[in-house]
Amino acid sequence: CGVFGIFGRTDASAIVTLGLHALQHRGQEAAGIVSFDGSQFHVERHIGLIGDTFTKQSVLDRLQGSRAIGHTRYSTTGGAGLRNVQPFFAELSEGGLAIAHNGNITNAMTVQRALQKQGAIFSSTSDTETVLHLVATSKGRDTNARFIDALRQIEGAFSIVALTSKKMIGCRDPLGIRPLVLGDLDGAYILSSETCALDIIGARYVRDVKPGEMVVVTEDGLESSFPFEIKQEPRFCIFEYVYFARPDSSVEGRNVYEVRKEIGAELAREMPVEADIVVPVPDSGTPAAIGYAQAANLPFELGIIRNHYVGRTFIQPTDSIRHMGVKLKHNANRRFIEGKRVVLVDDSIVRGTTSQKIVQMVRDAGAAEVHMRIASPPTRAPCFYGVDTPEAAKLLASRMTIEEMAEFIRVDSLAFLSIDGLYRAVGEAKRNTNQPQYCDACFTQDYPTRLTDHEGADNVR
Ligand code: 5GP
Ligand code: SF4
Ligand code: MG
Repeated sequence: CGVFGIFGRTDASAIVTLGLHALQHRGQEAAGIVSFDGSQFHVERHIGLIGDTFTKQSVLDRLQGSRAIGHTRYSTTGGAGLRNVQPFFAELSEGGLAIAHNGNITNAMTVQRALQKQGAIFSSTSDTETVLHLVATSKGRDTNARFIDALRQIEGAFSIVALTSKKMIGCRDPLGIRPLVLGDLDGAYILSSETCALDIIGARYVRDVKPGEMVVVTEDGLESSFPFEIKQEPRFCIFEYVYFARPDSSVEGRNVYEVRKEIGAELAREMPVEADIVVPVPDSGTPAAIGYAQAANLPFELGIIRNHYVGRTFIQPTDSIRHMGVKLKHNANRRFIEGKRVVLVDDSIVRGTTSQKIVQMVRDAGAAEVHMRIASPPTRAPCFYGVDTPEAAKLLASRMTIEEMAEFIRVDSLAFLSIDGLYRAVGEAKRNTNQPQYCDACFTQDYPTRLTDHEGADNVR
C-alpha cells in the first residue's frame, strides 16, 4: 500500500490525490482520502485507480480542508470490498481519528478476537481497524498517549499516517519494515511512503521517518519521539529495493534504480553466461537488466514490449485472469530476438506463470537459447508484512529445485542472485547471519517478528 498526508496547506486533498497517484504502484485496488476542514472530517473511499476516482471535481469538492491523509490499497489481508478501503475513520470520545496503514499487523486477528470478546464491533476484516479500536479503548490521558498505547500492542509491519482534529501523526514499526518519509512543501509537513510522491508536487525531501519513531505534526510544528520500549536493530524490507518501490524513489538515501542496477551487476558477476543480448522482462526486470548488460558487456535490447494499459498481473485475484493478464501484457520484439542467445532478466519468480509465458514467447520469436537470470534469491516463503506473496505451496521455489524450475519454465539455464549478492548490492559486505541488516524472510524464512496470528490462537483470552 501507499500512504500520504499533508498538514496545513489549502487544496490539501488535491495534493494528496497527486501524491497517491505517484504511489499508485503500491496498490491499484482502491484508494481513500480523509480531510479535515477545521470543524468537520470528510471521507471519500473508492474502488479503482486514483486517476479514475479522485480526479472528479465533485469528489475533491467534498474533501474540504487544509489537512488530509490518503491511502492506495493493495489487498494482502482482509480481501477486496469497499469496507476494507482505507483510511479508516471513527468518532472517538476526543474527536475524529483517521488511520492509513502500509504493512501488515501480524497479531491483528488475535487482538481483534480479544476485543470482540469485550464487546467491540468491527466493520471490516482489515488488520488496520484493530489500531483504531486499540486507540479508542486505551486508558491514556490524551491522543498521543492513547496512540502510543495502541502501537505498543501491535506486532508486524506498520508505517502509519493518522489524522485527528489537531494533529497529523506518522509512525514506523520498530524494525522499520515498510518505508515512510517526511517532506516539506513551503512549510507544510508531508508524510509519504516514497520520495517519488514528494517529487510530483515539488516538495522537498526532509528525511526518512526512523524505525520506531513517531512524529506528531501540529500547528506548532513537529515533535519526534521513540515510544517503543524495546530497542531493536532496523530490518527494512529488502524486497522494496528488488521490486516494490518505484525506481525514482530514494530509500535511506539510496536511489532505488541505482540499487537495482547494482543488483543486476552482481547477478552478472555471480551468474555469467555466453550470450548475444540481455533482455529485460519489463518493467520490473528493466533496471537489473541494464546493470547486468553493463557488467557483462553485452548489448541491452528491448526484446519484449509491454502494453502499459494492463495492470500488474500479480494484483488480479484469480489464477485464470493472471494467465490472461500475462498474454495481454507482453509481446516479443521478434526482429531483435531471432537467432539470438538471450539472457532474460526479471526481478523475481513467484508462481512461475510470468516466466513460463515469457520464455515461450521468446522461443516462439526464434531465440537460439534462453537463459533466465533472476535479480533476487528464490522466493521460498510468504510475506506477512504487506507484500502479497502467496502461501508457500504456490511458490515455485518452495516446490521445486532450481533444475526443476528451469525445466518447468523451459529455459536452457536458470540462475538466481545469492542472498549475499543482494546484500552487496544494497551496500553491505554480506548478510550478517546473527543479526541480518534487512528483512529478507521471503528468501530466507527468517522472520524478524513474532507471527502471533499464524502460531495458533492459544494466546487469545
Ligand atoms: P510469477 O508469474 O512468477 O508469479 O510472477 C513474477 C512476476 O510478478 C515478477 O515479474 C514480478 O515483477 C511480479 N510481481 C508482482 N507483484 C509481486 C509481488 O508482490 N511479489 C513478487 N515476488 N513478485 C511480484
Ligand atoms: Fe519484504 Fe520479503 Fe520481508 Fe515481506 S518477507 S517484508 S517482502 S523482505
Ligand atoms: Mg514483473
